[in-house]
Amino acid sequence: MEDTNPEALLDLLIVGGGPAGMSAALVAGRAMLSTVIVNAETPRNAVTTASHGFLTRDGAHPTELLAVAKGQLRKYGTVRYLAETVEAVRKLGGGFEVELVDGARFMTRRIVIATGYRDDLSRLELPGIEQVYGKSVYPCIFCDGFEHRGERLAIFGREDADHYAPKVRLWSDDVIVFTNGTPLPPDAKAELELRNVRVLEHPIRRLVSENGRLRAVELSTGDRIERDAGFIAEDYSLAATTFAEDLGVATSRNEWGMEALSADDFGKTAVPGVYVVGDAKVGFGGLIWSASEGAGCAESIVGEIAAEHWATANVSATYTDRRS
Ligand SMILES: Cc1cc2nc3c(=O)[nH]c(=O)nc-3n(C[C@H](O)[C@H](O)[C@H](O)COP(=O)(O)OP(=O)(O)OC[C@H]3O[C@@H](n4cnc5c(N)ncnc54)[C@H](O)[C@@H]3O)c2cc1C
Repeated sequence: MEDTNPEALLDLLIVGGGPAGMSAALVAGRAMLSTVIVNAETPRNAVTTASHGFLTRDGAHPTELLAVAKGQLRKYGTVRYLAETVEAVRKLGGGFEVELVDGARFMTRRIVIATGYRDDLSRLELPGIEQVYGKSVYPCIFCDGFEHRGERLAIFGREDADHYAPKVRLWSDDVIVFTNGTPLPPDAKAELELRNVRVLEHPIRRLVSENGRLRAVELSTGDRIERDAGFIAEDYSLAATTFAEDLGVATSRNEWGMEALSADDFGKTAVPGVYVVGDAKVGFGGLIWSASEGAGCAESIVGEIAAEHWATANVSATYTDRRS
């Protein structure tokens, strides 16, 4: 990674360096695009000790993923990596001005928003969740279900409990849904109980744990229900930044029923030059999906830039500059 002139108009600036942003940077840098990636280095899964399901990286610590990605980007002189935070993005002229918290400014033709989501645990109203989140209570069964197969599992939440339960049952025969004070519709409750999934609707007083390991769920009645691990079936997250909306990107209800930024399969939005990938686009994509989206987005941007150059007369000098 070499120093680029901050005054120069970049081909691409990527905000956020999780798997989505770093993959986009790798593809863009390898395609000779002058690229800056700014990363505050707070990955969403930082609370976990191991990430799963990413082929070749299964079981890796989140900081290891970041370290490997940074190491691999280092050899590309086209990419500059900054461990900084973006403060604001503005449309300016034919491009965008990006301002960092430390006051540095960059001008770029295109911007990729890959800033992810953050989890607001206070919205869950589950006292004790901080001690177990990412250690024995998780947002995603694909990410951590295997490590808790055959254990006594809890599903916390009402919103998606009846959709989530059939999956969780694949990992264990002992599953209880805790709705924390809100009754389930009688039909949904009957469906669950028919399949041997108990439903407990009392408010939860607290999660009892030891060294990050869930031990029991204590209800308002005083009953303690022993559990080893749990999965959350509630919406408690929000986008980490509003940069895309600030630039005029619209939101719409996606296929999972959540209000999300409108972008095509390659992250391209209706605002020219603005792209959004990874969790920032889908809410919860997972590592390998986010990496794939970042790569696909960068390839699509490279295609657009190539087409622009191709269509422009007398471009040989620009091509030579890019390769020097
Ligand atoms: C507890 C937990 C466990 C998980 N386990 C797994 C698992 O095992 N397997 C799996 O596939 N997925 C797992 N996930 C999901 C996974 O973490 C996300 O889907 C994935 O990290 C999304 O990648 P991303 O690149 O979109 O965002 P992130 O990885 O969240 O990266 C976003 C980056 O943007 C940066 N950023 C934010 N705002 C700014 C700003 N203003 N300026 C500069 N940088 C900024 C952040 O610092 C961060 O580094 C887990 C999630 C959680 C919460």
